[in-house]
Amino acid sequence: MIALQKKIIVAVDGFSSCGKSSYSKLIAKELQYVYLDSGAMYRAVALYALRKGWVHADTVLAEVIVLHLQDIEISFRLMDGENTTFLNGENIENEIRGVGVSSVVSKVSKIPEVRSYLVALQQKMGKVKGIVMDGRDIGTVVFPEAELKIYMQADAAVRAKRRYDELQAKGMPASLEEITQNINDRDHLDINRSVSPLVKADDALVLDNSYMTFEEQMGWFRNVLKVKGLLVN
Ligand code: C5P
Repeated sequence: MIALQKKIIVAVDGFSSCGKSSYSKLIAKELQYVYLDSGAMYRAVALYALRKGWVHADTVLAEVIVLHLQDIEISFRLMDGENTTFLNGENIENEIRGVGVSSVVSKVSKIPEVRSYLVALQQKMGKVKGIVMDGRDIGTVVFPEAELKIYMQADAAVRAKRRYDELQAKGMPASLEEITQNINDRDHLDINRSVSPLVKADDALVLDNSYMTFEEQMGWFRNVLKVKGLLVN
């Protein structure tokens, strides 16, 4: 466990599949903080729209989605120690990780009203501090005042292989080619959207973990806390 001088917000941003969530979970465990996955919230809205038939590979009925945002209730619960996403009371944790949701989520996340709806929810969840939240705009838009901002990156090929292994392990097979394509497409959309594009906050620290173990990444984290004078003792 790592003890800090004060309760803080840790914002972790970066591209898809560069290990943000695994890393954020580890950090949260070490700090005994709550971990919040903002990507899961965009995925939940995408799943809702997908089920209703409001989003397809090439079309999005943005106005309809926006009209129904209030019908989408998202929450997180710990299930067997695992952070689990619920949509209107239904456990959707596995479904939102599949290729179906992954291939449309960036189309939903670029709708400005979806973003402001979820950003407000995220800010509410972080009000008491003591959280680690990961996403794309956490350090820039959601918590610009976060005491610690980390911007993660990793080579695209390394990221594709990681996502491939993750899906295999969950028994949700997909081809490496399909995943690589999806990662490239999402990178493009995340960087180029007009509202809250993925961009490094000026005061964020860059962590490229392409060839780093979790242990090395945790060493980096401890060192950052030390340098920032946030560690107790
Ligand atoms: O982090 P994850 O890959 O699960 O996020 C899924 C999608 O949600 C991203 O591709 C991105 O379009 C969107 N997202 C976002 N802003 C965030 C978190 C995720 O736009 N803060």
